[in-house]
Amino acid sequence: MIKNFIAGTVLAALMFSAPASGVDRTAPYNQKAFEIYKTAVEMRTAKGHGMVPKLARYLADEFEKGGFPKADIHVLEMGKTAALVVRYRGDGSAGKKPISISAHMDVVDALRSDWERDPFTLIEEDGYFFGRGTGDDKAGMTAVVANFLRLKAEGWVPNRDLIIAFSGDEETGMLTTRALVNQYRDLTDSEFVLNADAGGGRINEDGSAPASYSMQAAEKAYVDFTLTVRNPGGHSSRPRDDNAIYDLAAALLKIQAYKFPVNASELTRAYFRGTGPKTPGELGKAMIAFAADPTDKWAIKTLRANPGTVGTTGTTCVATLLSAGHAVNALPQSATANVNCRIFPGEGVAKTIERLKAVMGNDAVEISMVAPPTETDASPLRSDVLAAVRKAVDTRYPGLDIIPAMSSGGTDGMHFRAAGIPSYGVNGIYMKGSDSFAHGLNERMPVESFFSNVEHWYVLLKEIAG
Ligand SMILES: [Zn+2]
Repeated sequence: MIKNFIAGTVLAALMFSAPASGVDRTAPYNQKAFEIYKTAVEMRTAKGHGMVPKLARYLADEFEKGGFPKADIHVLEMGKTAALVVRYRGDGSAGKKPISISAHMDVVDALRSDWERDPFTLIEEDGYFFGRGTGDDKAGMTAVVANFLRLKAEGWVPNRDLIIAFSGDEETGMLTTRALVNQYRDLTDSEFVLNADAGGGRINEDGSAPASYSMQAAEKAYVDFTLTVRNPGGHSSRPRDDNAIYDLAAALLKIQAYKFPVNASELTRAYFRGTGPKTPGELGKAMIAFAADPTDKWAIKTLRANPGTVGTTGTTCVATLLSAGHAVNALPQSATANVNCRIFPGEGVAKTIERLKAVMGNDAVEISMVAPPTETDASPLRSDVLAAVRKAVDTRYPGLDIIPAMSSGGTDGMHFRAAGIPSYGVNGIYMKGSDSFAHGLNERMPVESFFSNVEHWYVLLKEIAG
């Protein structure tokens, strides 16, 4: 998944200067970046096609040609996919643990018959690159690879090790990500992670500068619960007081009416404080009020009435699937529902289950988890990361506000956070909302955004480890 994290409607009425002048795409490293991007997009690295190992080996080959010792390049094949680890050795002068850089090599699948152009041919048209993965996440992945090669060629030596830790199934099982932080921890152990699959800014539809740059620093935990009510059933001509469908429906209505406690963290308050002044109307006022006082009833009510901000004020749970009964003329023997929860960092799955049970107030409703969740705390805001991101953002939009953000869950970052390694989504892609087609049809990337992200990572890496 790729996250640009501009929650709600953030309209910029700001007078920023025009973006810094365009990058020279004919420069050798930009030509190399384009070559890697094109090669990567044209490999169908979607689940089931077995192409991720091929992409990983291609990249490994590029690193070897670029002067990285073979012993520092690891293609870790796992089933039909693979992870890639590459260590850029520093001189150790910082006296600090390495920094990892994450991105993912896989993509959501795409069908030629659905698309206007072949999704697995990189096509440049009207100022855009079209193709599956042009945004999510082959632009971020390429920017990191191209800059490792460029910096190496320039003879730059970081003051601590930098480690590429690319996953190969981020869009599906995330087994490679888990393996990177657990099984292969000796290769990837680091102080924190910079994630090239999150972060960026939304350019206004008229092309004017974004309201802010969003840096992902937290993710909510994603959990699906199955609620089940069982009943002996019987002939529908002989109804009884207890009924699986009615009992489940009653429990669901109670969940619908329930409002989870309000949560606020340093990060969400900073997000609202920064976004509020640029958000028009009552919503913007509510953001500012909530940032100042998270118990402000009017602010809470306003933010919770808006689908773009409700998730930032606490845990949410909502019914998403329903199935019950087995015949039109029989009392239902079972009724089940899926309730999807996005749990605020620190709240905990166990506490959420307790709340749901108390709200439903019916022991006959069984509750089980569909899959084990990954719960993570927000990553602490670090001045070194913020300073490096500041410099990188300034290359494109000098002075643009950097706002930490929490996403609703779903990048590699959560597995690093869960393993105790803070993660920051700091990619430098700026695009219009109308250009965002990640996971969807006709995915595209503004040509200028692709190249400016390559420049973004050049500045970011040199700053964070220079
Ligand atoms: Zn992604």
